[in-house]
Amino acid sequence: MNSKVNDKRKPGFLAPEVALATFGVRTFGCQMNKSRSEHLAYRLRELGFSQAEKLENADVVIFNTCAVREHAAQRAMGIIGQFAREHKERNPHSLLVVCGCLGQLQREKLLEKCKEIDVLAGTHNWEDLPFLIQRAWWEKEKIVAFRETPPSLYEEKGYWHSNRISAYLPITFGCDNFCSYCVVPYTTGRQRSKPVEIIEEEVKNLADNGFREITLLGQNVNSYGRDWGREEAFEDLLSDIEKWLRGKKIWLRFLTSHPRDLRRGIVEVVKYSDCICPYFHLPLQAGSNKILHLMNRGYTRENYLDKVNLIRQSISGARVGTDIIVGFPGETDSDFQETLEVVKEAQFDVAYTYIYSPRPGTGASLLKDDIPLEVKKERLHILNDILRGIYQKKLPRLEGKIVEVLIDQKEGDLVSGRTANNLRVYLREAHALEIGEWVEVLLTPGEENKVYGSVER
Ligand code: SF4
Repeated sequence: MNSKVNDKRKPGFLAPEVALATFGVRTFGCQMNKSRSEHLAYRLRELGFSQAEKLENADVVIFNTCAVREHAAQRAMGIIGQFAREHKERNPHSLLVVCGCLGQLQREKLLEKCKEIDVLAGTHNWEDLPFLIQRAWWEKEKIVAFRETPPSLYEEKGYWHSNRISAYLPITFGCDNFCSYCVVPYTTGRQRSKPVEIIEEEVKNLADNGFREITLLGQNVNSYGRDWGREEAFEDLLSDIEKWLRGKKIWLRFLTSHPRDLRRGIVEVVKYSDCICPYFHLPLQAGSNKILHLMNRGYTRENYLDKVNLIRQSISGARVGTDIIVGFPGETDSDFQETLEVVKEAQFDVAYTYIYSPRPGTGASLLKDDIPLEVKKERLHILNDILRGIYQKKLPRLEGKIVEVLIDQKEGDLVSGRTANNLRVYLREAHALEIGEWVEVLLTPGEENKVYGSVER
């Protein structure tokens, strides 16, 4: 820690010396976690901390963790332990902070495995976390803070967006769905929807600050407002945002749509919108009704396929993405075949696939994890082959089309961007283009599952 700073300060006191302390955040997991880290960065800056260019150089090192999958959780624990030991050698006065879902779920294990942790905070302590970090920094105190119940309101404001073009904007926090394999409702609590006025303020700020795309985030965006007793608040929110953004060129995206709650009204708003992007991330998880029931997903394969058809028939060019888990307890070969059938019928454009692993405290962890790892791996392999085949068949159909692309990545000569319907396009001879530019692109033959294009203007 900074040796010049040795007096005790009240939390919230903005001392000039605090700017001498830098922080860095490493985020594991989903977009929601990335957004939480951006909120934490915003709050720490408000308290006078500044952001280090590299995690290795930071005085305050923060690991915002994820516990959704066992393998990733174990890996994160190893990374944190090793980094902590090396970093304390480099900078013995540094502060090591661990927060997020893994902190919430495995606090004893983390404390036992990583003695270097200075601040360990649960997911219900987000509001206080910047002050806890500040207190630990000033008072050189070890802090372990876990609130048992989540706050009832979700009024989070302010994000330090790591990218000045694309912003994540959470609209709900927590989840009420209790899918049997998932820890999120246990680590983050019941759903809390952010008030419309706060979302309006954030959206207008982002628009005024030149952001080109905003992604609304929630574990289940379709159930936005349900915690206030409003069933169709999400389509109203989308319509409101459409009005706030009128006259400005900004793309609005949203993640994730629970298939049970995707309604015709939402699809209609997207269909008639000038700014809402026609991409729906609709996690299937499994294609067998027996497994869907055991997963407590609340829909059948027939309902699911109806929703996919509704999207595709309503909005030409809409793309659909999904998540699929293989090897859930009790998944027989014939259940797995049913998943493959749904995959073939749905013709997904994007898919993330996973092997099931039991998570502590969830309903599914009470079921016998009876599918051998070899079988799970084999099923994953078969599934990925089929998904690849679907994608490869779609590639030639794209050739010759002219699409609008927002450039969002530039690494050396490799420039790429996304279309409104979430297709990543790599651009040839585009080094003069800058991140944030919209360009018309002629799609040309793909290579190795990548879509290429050349700039038309
Ligand atoms: S909808 Fe299901 S899978 Fe998604 S966060 Fe909620 S409980 Fe987890």
